Amino acid sequence: MTRLTCLVTRQPEDGDMSTLEQTSLAPSRCYSEGVVTPAPTAPVAVVFDGDDTLWSTEPLYDRARAAARAEVVRVGLDGDAWERIERRVDVENVQRLGFSTERFPLSCVQAYEQLADFGGVPRDPEVSRRVRSAARIVFDQDPPLVPGAREAIQALRERGAKLALLTKGDHDLQERRVERSGIADLFDVIRIVPEKPASVFREIVALLGVKPKDAWSVGNSIRSDIVPAIESGLRAVWIEAHVWEHERFEGSFRHDRMIAIRDVSDLPEAIDIAVMHKSSHGAAD
Ligand SMILES: [Mg+2]
Repeated sequence: MTRLTCLVTRQPEDGDMSTLEQTSLAPSRCYSEGVVTPAPTAPVAVVFDGDDTLWSTEPLYDRARAAARAEVVRVGLDGDAWERIERRVDVENVQRLGFSTERFPLSCVQAYEQLADFGGVPRDPEVSRRVRSAARIVFDQDPPLVPGAREAIQALRERGAKLALLTKGDHDLQERRVERSGIADLFDVIRIVPEKPASVFREIVALLGVKPKDAWSVGNSIRSDIVPAIESGLRAVWIEAHVWEHERFEGSFRHDRMIAIRDVSDLPEAIDIAVMHKSSHGAAD
């Protein structure tokens, strides 16, 4: 298993609760042990990702993909083969279509057509229509909030942290998700962007009126939420959660300004510990 740097507190034998040690733990073990102590200072700003960090979209895609697959299987084609093609084509289509809501249904149809062609089966426009229609159910449902997300945001807000929501994707779709999330009023700044380059993190931090070193980016994608934030001088909390193929990060990523947690509920404590660790070591950054 990939091992990541994670800050934990351990209660030493002499009972000195302030002792902190930085250690390398598998993500699944972060916060599985140790004692959390209150932080002396609050974080200044936190920039949250939306999809699969604060609300769960991937189960919606999984459900829609299963419905589209059922239409393909119904006409005698191989569901596993269709799904392998669909996942590949969907990532390829990001180049051309970005995060448009047309992309996922189109990828599902193209996978059906490629599979039919490969098997020498004539394409049936009615099957294509049914596959597209099944895939589109992903946009009819509102993604549920991740358990504990609202409480974590509120806890940070009560400590005086400035909060931003930075989500990428189709603008209208993301706007609807933000509006229906029920947590939009907890943020000082909300930005919907097509991509998350390092410059976007610098802009958000400037809008919040803090220095990059005093801001945290929190998200489930190493590629979109962690790497560009670190590049901009922020600190980062990676939440190990469901990511789709386009966001999947090959290999391991470690950085002394990143910590990893399993559950967004652990976020306030994780930041407290990291801030206290920084203070106790007199970090000059
Ligand atoms: Mg995400």
